[in-house]
Amino acid sequence: MSRNSKFSNPHAITLIERYQPIWAVSKAMELSGWDLETFMPPKGSFARGNMTGQLTALIQKMYTDPHLLDLLDRLQESQDLTLYEKGLARVMRRETKIYTKVPAKLMQELSELTTRASLNWRAAREKNNYEIFKSDLGKIIELTRDMADHLGYEVHPYNALLDLHEEGFTVQDADVMFGELRDPLKVILEKAATERDSPLALETYDQGGMKMAEIELLTKLGYDFTRFREDTSAHPFTVGISIDDVRITTRRKGYDFKDTLFSVLHEGGHALYELQIDPELEFTPLSGGASMGIHESQSRFMENMIGRSREFARGSFGILSKYLPFLKNYSEEEIYSYFNHVKPGLIRVEADEVSYNFHIMIRYEVEKQLIGGQAQVSDLPELWSELYEKYLGVRPNDFSDGVLQDIHWSGGSFGYFPSYTIGNVVAAQIRYHAMRDIPDMYAKVSDLDLDELKQWLKEKVHVWGATYTPKELMMRSFGEGYQPKYLINYLREKYL
Ligand code: MG
Repeated sequence: MSRNSKFSNPHAITLIERYQPIWAVSKAMELSGWDLETFMPPKGSFARGNMTGQLTALIQKMYTDPHLLDLLDRLQESQDLTLYEKGLARVMRRETKIYTKVPAKLMQELSELTTRASLNWRAAREKNNYEIFKSDLGKIIELTRDMADHLGYEVHPYNALLDLHEEGFTVQDADVMFGELRDPLKVILEKAATERDSPLALETYDQGGMKMAEIELLTKLGYDFTRFREDTSAHPFTVGISIDDVRITTRRKGYDFKDTLFSVLHEGGHALYELQIDPELEFTPLSGGASMGIHESQSRFMENMIGRSREFARGSFGILSKYLPFLKNYSEEEIYSYFNHVKPGLIRVEADEVSYNFHIMIRYEVEKQLIGGQAQVSDLPELWSELYEKYLGVRPNDFSDGVLQDIHWSGGSFGYFPSYTIGNVVAAQIRYHAMRDIPDMYAKVSDLDLDELKQWLKEKVHVWGATYTPKELMMRSFGEGYQPKYLINYLREKYL
């Protein structure tokens, strides 16, 4: 690692040196995770599981090294830290927190439990039998509540879990955010929903052709394939191995091409964040996003605010219709309404941008009650159905389309779901501010010219990495905290 201008405090410099093996092992794990999802032959999974276990133990050992923790104490006690040094101390403290506050035995127990629970969740989903997963889920909730106790919290144990994903975000913040969204979104949803699917959803495509269209589109949007790549996996994701090695995946089912198109734009938004972080933050704990919610705002912005715009439908037509020749039989208006078809349904990952937030609201309410002890796992299917009926007017007929649809809980991930709605809220906020600063932003989208917008996103959000807390970043760049009104206004304008 080369010296740079951002860190001059001797403790900061030593801490970053000490961080290098942690960085290397963490990135090796991410690379191994990417390989597992993309190219690993199926029988490699047993050995890969062992490898991951060993690397996780190694990371835990490195993060609890007394020398490292001592350096961190001394850095935090130092006077006159720069903005970056303060960020370094803050992020390192957060990274070490889970290892220093939660007993290793509890972490080990949780890890073994979730490995088993993931298998049982898969079986339960396939067999549509909640009973297969129920007792594991109950135990996961119990251990997660223990973990929250060790992490510490004020007011509600769920706050400890929210903070793991969205620093400083509380039940109170979430109640306000969802409370402001609930009624206005319900009105928009009722008016915008249409039963009929677009015939475009049934058009089949050649998967090789679709891939060429994606590559041409990404290239046109300025993605540099010497620093970036795209592959396929069962569930799309993004991984940043380094600032010059960022990878996305997508999936192609052979029909309903918007599924693939928008997953590419979504992951492309995540990737752009990673690609535009200040290179001087590379090899430090600051070279990642500010939070899950802020990261998600970048993907939602690219997917929804750019990708689902009329201008994008127009601008992308040339490239898309070259590889998807059936598009020539449809008008721009038909393509635009296919991109923006609103229909309340049971499945979160298939939801449109209006109903999506209700899926998250439901999960938030359920998680809060489970962690707070107001609901038990045996109440869950009924609670789930009631909330779906109340918010989306649909009721699942089986568990697989209901409580068993998401992978999150089987992996012990509680407090993560709200970041999706934070992402939508912040994306709309960014859209508002971007349009004020770049009045011809959408005109340029119709030429697929994102250069100025990307530079703007870089300055406002990306370049900082995790230097600021998410709330500080919002204040610094937009002069306000999370503001749901922009999302309501954007959806109103678009759908009413
Ligand atoms: Mg995402």
